[in-house]
Amino acid sequence: MTQEEVFKNLTAHCKEYGFIFQSSEIYDGLSAVYDYGQLGVELKNNIKNYWWQAMVRLHDNIVGIDSAIFMHPKIWEASGHVAAFNDPLIDNRDSKKRYRADVLIEDFLAKLEEKINKEVEKGRRKFGETFDEEQFRATNPNVLRIKAKYDETHARMVKALDNNDLEEMRQIIIDSDIVCPISGTKNWTDVRKFNLMFSTQLGNVSGEDGTIYLRPETAQGIFVNFLNVQKTGRMKIPFGIAQIGKAFRNEIVARQFIFRMREFEQMEMQFFIKPGTELDWFAKWKETRLQWHKAIGLGDDKYRFHDHDKLAHYANAATDIEFNFPFGFKELEGIHSRTDFDLGNHQRMSGRKIQYFDPETQESYVPYVIETSIGVDRCVLAVLSSSYHEEALEGGDTRVVLSIPPALAPVKVAVLPLVKKDGLPEKAREILTALRVDFNCQYDEKDSIGKRYRRQDAIGTPYCVTVDHDTLTDGTVTIRYRDTMEQERVPIDALRNIIFDKVSLNSLLTKNI
Ligand code: ATP
Repeated sequence: MTQEEVFKNLTAHCKEYGFIFQSSEIYDGLSAVYDYGQLGVELKNNIKNYWWQAMVRLHDNIVGIDSAIFMHPKIWEASGHVAAFNDPLIDNRDSKKRYRADVLIEDFLAKLEEKINKEVEKGRRKFGETFDEEQFRATNPNVLRIKAKYDETHARMVKALDNNDLEEMRQIIIDSDIVCPISGTKNWTDVRKFNLMFSTQLGNVSGEDGTIYLRPETAQGIFVNFLNVQKTGRMKIPFGIAQIGKAFRNEIVARQFIFRMREFEQMEMQFFIKPGTELDWFAKWKETRLQWHKAIGLGDDKYRFHDHDKLAHYANAATDIEFNFPFGFKELEGIHSRTDFDLGNHQRMSGRKIQYFDPETQESYVPYVIETSIGVDRCVLAVLSSSYHEEALEGGDTRVVLSIPPALAPVKVAVLPLVKKDGLPEKAREILTALRVDFNCQYDEKDSIGKRYRRQDAIGTPYCVTVDHDTLTDGTVTIRYRDTMEQERVPIDALRNIIFDKVSLNSLLTKNI
């Protein structure tokens, strides 16, 4: 099965089992907007909880806030979003589809990279053990030809983005023979800029301009509260403010399920530091955040850093943590050294002194900022896409299993009476009542035990506890493990500890210390 097919199956699976639904489905849906169902919300909450505990609880110099979505419109002028939060867009006249020009070029570059890798693999097969990859990359004529094309196109793109040169962006697309994936033609329009912020009206006094924006990032809510938190929390630099909340962007190219949505959720942390120390802190936060991701256990090789070619208007260093989604390595989290851009601009625009008084040097300054910004929904997609497996079992049977890391799984344990009589349901409910104080549990007595196991596999429940006739006499149950499908006989009293060890967030948090 191709990655594309697996991804399609995953999307269908998410709907079928109550993880993620298309928004407004009974009205044919609203594009690039999604609702989380009964299991999706549990997974999402677990991810948010993991982030919050790792950032706020494990750091004595980071505190959290929850700022409002509506903010004063001047904030978005100060932040640069009114003037510069634009995407370069291009339309294909034949398919009438719209694309981000930079994404079309990046996809083309990714294809060149793929071609180079294929050449390298060919070489490896041909030369066997004597193969020297470094030398091959440096001398093979095919590799060198493709690499030259890559470097040239890449350099042109970076320059065009830096200079905001929309004509040149179009020319790169033409010169690279990039065709529309739908129509297959090169019938492109000009490249235009499009602002991504949604606006709405505040119930205002008539005559006044009440236009306000839905926030496109949560970060500004942190910056405008810098003084409040620093003073009331008696925070000393270096310190951070963390926030989880909704953000809105009028994304034009909205594809790939919950990867790119118009309404999504961010987990952002702004770390305030002394100017001049930013590159050290930038390096530190890169490592800390990567460690957070790796601790989840989806596989270390699924992550990589991608340093930015074009720095945003506010940054002096920036990197993405990319994740290997079914459609390739794409941004999961951004880490940016934002200098004093935001606080400095708010100071100018608001007329308030937004500075920190350093008690040691007796000096005041506008702090610099390192930002870590991750999309909750992309994290959900990372977990789901790497957990989804269609497995062939012995005897020709198959099962769909979500091997979600137990600490993030929506349901931790299912309690199942073997049959619906002889007092087994009553005993099972007794066990359920005791376990649900600690864990999110399900009770299921319908269908054969095999079918019930499959249903739990399909939603990623790490443990099933089966109550049978022996339970009534010897106080033991069968515990079944999702990943190995192994079963073990254990005393009821031992259940809590066995399950707690694996499903508690502590198991992830200890890897963050
Ligand atoms: P991209 O280049 O993919 O558009 P970005 O660089 O604009 O992303 P940031 O502004 O750095 O993204 O936002 C921080 C994080 O918020 C991203 O790493 C991503 O996880 C998440 N995010 C951004 N836009 C969206 C979106 N439209 N849908 C879901 N998550 C998003």
